Amino acid sequence: MQLSERIKNIKPSATMKTLSLAKSLRASGVDVINMGIGEPDFQTPNSIQEAAIESIQNGKASFYTAASGLEPLKVAIKNHYQAAFNLEYEVENIAVTTGAKMALYATFQALLNPGDEVLLPNPYWVSYSEQIKLAGGVPILVPVPDSGKLAVDNFEQHLTAKTKLILLNSPQNPTGEIYHKDDLIKLGNWSVDHDLMIISDEIYGELVYNGNQFTSMGNLGSRIKENTVIINGVSKTYSMTGWRIGIVLGDPQLIKSITAFVSHATGNPATVSQYASVAAFTQGAKAAELMRQEFETRLNLIYPKLIEIPGFDLPVKPHGAFYLFPNIEGALKLTGLSSEAFVSGLLTDAHVAVVDGKAFGVPGHIRLSYALSVDQLEEAMKRIKSFVETNS
Ligand code: PLP
Repeated sequence: MQLSERIKNIKPSATMKTLSLAKSLRASGVDVINMGIGEPDFQTPNSIQEAAIESIQNGKASFYTAASGLEPLKVAIKNHYQAAFNLEYEVENIAVTTGAKMALYATFQALLNPGDEVLLPNPYWVSYSEQIKLAGGVPILVPVPDSGKLAVDNFEQHLTAKTKLILLNSPQNPTGEIYHKDDLIKLGNWSVDHDLMIISDEIYGELVYNGNQFTSMGNLGSRIKENTVIINGVSKTYSMTGWRIGIVLGDPQLIKSITAFVSHATGNPATVSQYASVAAFTQGAKAAELMRQEFETRLNLIYPKLIEIPGFDLPVKPHGAFYLFPNIEGALKLTGLSSEAFVSGLLTDAHVAVVDGKAFGVPGHIRLSYALSVDQLEEAMKRIKSFVETNS
């Protein structure tokens, strides 16, 4: 079969690959602890599920909606942004998409011409680079040695006549770090000065722990706000990964173009999921806060255990999202294993699934998700420690 050059260039999602490997081991009866996947382990809160069921029973879920989403959902998003972030967006600034993945995909399709370069802080979430390539763009990795600190210098060094966009993600996947407000202001102003738009993926913005503060790029004054496209969704905050609802917030002209694109690509996001999301934004705050607190407890429990593992290094406890991204070069030295062999040995011998840092642009690290029960997390830490010790 002659596949297109475009698709030949695309790597399958490493996190999805880990999930399917872990699932097949589990299906053969192995007790695998899956720290590889980025999804909350809670059931979607009841009030959200009930709103979805009601939309099915009253017949509303049977039909298409506007391609960019239901008006009541956009109003709920507008009100939520005002209450949660003190940010003013109008309905014409909002498009609802099939997950944040499609929000990003459609944004790249709307903004990138072939050869346009996108500055992407490294480490980065696996889908960014592939989505940029699918839009004809070129991901340019910007090394950020201390993942919590953005320096304009790092970006300046990679600026060319083809640079079009900067892609930021805070709190970050895979590190869980949050960028500082002062750094964001400097980078935001620099991007306006150089006519570069910022895409800010803020999907973990409400999963922040231990009193740390998240700053939305929308909150840095109108000059930066107008130059920024915000990506968000319900997957992580409300434990709704299966419902597939994402959000783009931006300039009305961009929103119109994204709407035109999705009207051909997916049509509207699933109607039942949109009704569920109205309930998430209007009634979900309490349930979301309880889940956030549970993640915070887990982080505080797992972090000290993780850094006790020989050869694992993570000097700063992450501030948000639900990932840990330790440097494991010490453990690779102790065991004499390559990072691939370490990750696959963890799965086949210790029965713990994690993702190789290489998938996020930084070899010598692994990403562990702590969206698991406390018991599973404690057991996983024991298994990883014993794997390193036995192989040392
Ligand atoms: N952005 C980041 C940084 C993510 O980690 C994820 C999911 O893992 C997404 C976007 C996509 O989320 P959604 O489930 O809404 O497509």
